[in-house]
Amino acid sequence: MFGPLTVKPIKSKGDKTGSWRVRLKPKYLHKNCIGCKMCILICPEGCIMGEEKNTLLPDYNYCKGCGLCAIICPKKDILMIDEESEGESK
Ligand code: SF4
Ligand code: SF4
Repeated sequence: MFGPLTVKPIKSKGDKTGSWRVRLKPKYLHKNCIGCKMCILICPEGCIMGEEKNTLLPDYNYCKGCGLCAIICPKKDILMIDEESEGESK
C-alpha cells in the first residue's frame, strides 16, 4: 500500500518537482473512470489534466509519483508503475 514511499528518491527531469520524486508514475487505464475528479482534488502538485472521464492524464514533468491519485481512485483505474521497467509496483 505504501510502496511509492519506499522507493529510493530521485531527482526529476529538469527539477520541475523540486528536490525529490520517486521512481513511480501513475498509469491511467481509461477503462472504468467515472469522472469523479477525486484524483485531481487530491494531487498535491495539481498536475492532472483533463475534463471528461477517461481523458485525465498527469503531466509527468510535475508528478512526484506520490501515488495518492491511485489510492483515492474509487474505480481502481490508476496503477502505479515503475518508470524504468513500466511494470506495476507491488
Ligand atoms: S502520483 Fe501524486 S503527484 Fe503524481 S499525479 Fe498522482 S497525486 Fe499527482
Ligand atoms: S479518481 Fe479515478 S474514477 Fe475518479 S476521475 Fe480520477 S481516474 Fe476517474
